[in-house]
Amino acid sequence: MLPAPLPLQVAAAVARTKGFMPEAEGEALHAHAMSSLPGTWLEIGTYCGKSTLILGDAARRVGSSLVTVDHHHGSEENQPGWEWHDTSMVDPQSGMLDTLPTFRPVLDSLSDVCSAVVGSTEVVARWWASPLALLFLDGNHTEETAQHDYAAFAPFVVPGGTLLVHDVFPDPADGGQAPWHVVQRALSEGFVEIARHGSLRVLRRT
Ligand code: SAH
Ligand code: MG
Repeated sequence: MLPAPLPLQVAAAVARTKGFMPEAEGEALHAHAMSSLPGTWLEIGTYCGKSTLILGDAARRVGSSLVTVDHHHGSEENQPGWEWHDTSMVDPQSGMLDTLPTFRPVLDSLSDVCSAVVGSTEVVARWWASPLALLFLDGNHTEETAQHDYAAFAPFVVPGGTLLVHDVFPDPADGGQAPWHVVQRALSEGFVEIARHGSLRVLRRT
């Protein structure tokens, strides 16, 4: 699966949306989504919808339905004083980071194909029951929550389904280890790696 430039309008929308998806990895994400099975696709970690735009476009073309989950209050590294904090998205009333208003126009542009679930993955996991043709893990990168998100949703990935894990850094010097641990766990639990692009790992359930 060779990544190709995103369709022009998608690339433009992605470029003007805040988030954490390098261009080349976004192209790879799109390409692998395009070759995934149709069905329900689940994204963990919406933020402002940068990767949602990429998955949403592919879902539309493949005939899938995309669900994206986030409580929209950011991860640890997005909080005030941390490296990835964006002061423009702090709600003055609550004092909390709130990415939901920024995400709203993105969601509107995907209203034919994408449903947003606003809540923590812990709470969503209690009722989630849909088989998944694609799962994209890009939420909280603490060991506890990254492992939780994998354990909660990966069992729903159908045979032949795609598991994509973002921010995978085998060398601790490059970044946090939790997503890498998740990949190793997946490889021991019925997934095989089919590609890697930067920090994006692509696995398939056999
Ligand atoms: N996919 C996005 C980046 C996601 S950043 C992009 O392409 O830009 C990670 C997101 O995970 C943050 O928005 C944060 O709010 C969310 N998050 C962190 N912990 C969470 C939890 N326990 N439940 C739901 N969302 C969570
Ligand atoms: Mg990420």
